Amino acid sequence: MATESFGFQAEISQLLDLIINTFYSNKEIFLRELISNASDALDKIRYQSLTDPSVLDSGKDLFIRIIPDKENKIFSLRDTGIGMTKADMVNNLGTIAKSGTKGFMEALSSGADISMIGQFGVGFYSAYLVAERVQVISKHNDDEQYIWESAAGGTFTITPDTINPPLGRGTEIRLYLKEDQLEYLEEKRIKDIVKKHSEFISYPIQLAVTKEVEKEVEDEEEAVEEEEEEDKEKPKVEEVDDEEDKKKKTKKIKEKTVENEELNKTKPIWTRNPSEITPEEYGAFYKSLTNDWEEHLAVKHFSVEGQLEFKAILYIPKRAPFDLFESKKKRNNIKLYVRRVFIMDDCEDIIPEYLNFVKGIVDSEDLPLNISRETLQQNKILKVIRKNIVKKCMDLFSEIAEDQDNFSKFYEAFGKNMKLGIHEDAQNRSKLAEFLRFYSTKSSDEMTSLKDYITRMPEVQKNVYYLTGESLSAVKDSPFLEVLKKKGFEVLLLVDPIDEYAITQLKEFDGHKLICVSKEGLELEETEEEKKAREEEATQFEDLCKAVKEALGDKVEKVVVSNRISDSPCVLVTGQFGWSSNMERIMKAQALRDSSMSSYMASKKTLELNPHNPIVKELKNKVSEDKADKGIRDLTYLLFETALLTSGFSLDDPTSFAKRIHRMIALGLDVDEDESVPAASSSVDVPPPAEAASASAMEEID
Ligand code: ADP
Ligand code: MG
Repeated sequence: MATESFGFQAEISQLLDLIINTFYSNKEIFLRELISNASDALDKIRYQSLTDPSVLDSGKDLFIRIIPDKENKIFSLRDTGIGMTKADMVNNLGTIAKSGTKGFMEALSSGADISMIGQFGVGFYSAYLVAERVQVISKHNDDEQYIWESAAGGTFTITPDTINPPLGRGTEIRLYLKEDQLEYLEEKRIKDIVKKHSEFISYPIQLAVTKEVEKEVEDEEEAVEEEEEEDKEKPKVEEVDDEEDKKKKTKKIKEKTVENEELNKTKPIWTRNPSEITPEEYGAFYKSLTNDWEEHLAVKHFSVEGQLEFKAILYIPKRAPFDLFESKKKRNNIKLYVRRVFIMDDCEDIIPEYLNFVKGIVDSEDLPLNISRETLQQNKILKVIRKNIVKKCMDLFSEIAEDQDNFSKFYEAFGKNMKLGIHEDAQNRSKLAEFLRFYSTKSSDEMTSLKDYITRMPEVQKNVYYLTGESLSAVKDSPFLEVLKKKGFEVLLLVDPIDEYAITQLKEFDGHKLICVSKEGLELEETEEEKKAREEEATQFEDLCKAVKEALGDKVEKVVVSNRISDSPCVLVTGQFGWSSNMERIMKAQALRDSSMSSYMASKKTLELNPHNPIVKELKNKVSEDKADKGIRDLTYLLFETALLTSGFSLDDPTSFAKRIHRMIALGLDVDEDESVPAASSSVDVPPPAEAASASAMEEID
């Protein structure tokens, strides 16, 4: 027989070793995984049949059947799903590792539980929790019947199936159970597991139950056989020794029959009345729908009636999946049904991308059954369904927000999605803005909502202020906050790279403009007096501004007197519509391909001087004395470069910055600049402070 051997891909082999050798008691989850695969396979053939009914010529009955064989210690699971071709078996059961293979092993080593296996897309291998050897017999419409077989150990084989009865179509998985796992052949155990993990599978799950009944029959064997139903095994006929029977020409027989008992009879949960569904049932349905090992964080079960009718259940998970933002992975979190028939689980148009973490089902009364992916995109009904789903999601988030703890969990997991939503979904932007949370100058560890921020605004304050940066520690003492802090204006600290994209899209909240405090043209709410004082300062410092601009050349666009710093000597602000220093940092990190764009967008910087700072004041005096002083040029550069750093930029030329600093240090230590470095200096006496002027300059630079 043409048996071919294959090696498992290395990571899969490792995974199998782990599954076989890890001590783990909750082995029953293997059944949930195999049933889930069977259900997926049935979904696939049913979907194909909607456009091509002939695919069901190989069998119209769609079911999952569990057949425990105590005699041979084999647990079989059969489905009439799509089946696998030989190539499918080679690829899907051993040679091509999914990203989840490694992901799952990493998760395990950091304390995850084996029952999470389904989430990582490697559920099939859980069969080895209970089996020492596994056979997968499969028949796909496009190929012959094959047997896949492996006892792990690094290899599997594939053989054309000439021994087993033909399946017609579908798959039978045979688990040759380990000696200590025979409990999975017990009817009661199987029923309990199915009830617990797979109750909501939408295909009948049958259990082949062996029954022994006593029957009184005419004393003719043929008569018995004629009564047989297809599903029943040949009866074992045992003559019962009974005098009376002989007289009546009948006999009692003990008949062993196999009946297929359906284990999941409940009707689809979404068709039931929400008031009659328990939280446990919602939890169980969620788990069966998502393979999640934990229950959901929130659920919404609703129906829409009127012009259009559909029912839906939406769930918010407790945490983000390990690959939430892995864009290649298809997003299939809402299952689409039409009049109780499963249509597809990767309908992109049913929910916007930023809500890809919402799971659930939608069952439409109006869509045509044989709808194809292409026509779905254009479908008006689907557009209305989508709009409704988004709205219900917003309601659901609002409900979560009523409980602080729950919302923190939610925001930690899906805060990024809210921000993406602000970017993508103009219609729901202001609603989504309610769910944003940021650190701020007034909240220590807790994040604040925009709504709460507004309640804390002093009466004179009109705008909402924010500053973006790399981390909390990088922004919390930023010079940009100085005057705002003094005025009692709270500033939001945005330290997630996506924050700036979101907030610039948002522009305003509840009638208040969102203003970046590191950008040009900051108009702080000020009194008439403050305004007058600032204008006076502007004229007084005009000459200094000019001199500094001259010294810096095109390093800066402008030099002006600042209204936002009260301690630091100066800051660098960027154009209103250009990148902030934070954005410049992000863009540089992303190595933007289009360098013309970056030079255009790259921040045009304005240097703002603080007229109250002693260094700036002294500089002003120096300038009015002697404009051409070489020392002034050096100091100006130093001020500019330190402002780059405190304003969140990086230095283009750190070496010349360092040189300037070293010159200042030399000056402070009264070291002769031209003196060459001594070969081996004995003891260096710290010289006494030199001239008063340079010493005070050092102090201030400190
Ligand atoms: P997942 O179900 O997440 O894809 P599994 O490890 O559970 O991962 O299954 C691997 C693959 O094997 C499936 O994607 C499917 O292609 C194939 N497969 C497993 N069981 C069946 C089955 N009963 N019928 C058809 N294909 C199956
Ligand atoms: Mg699976």
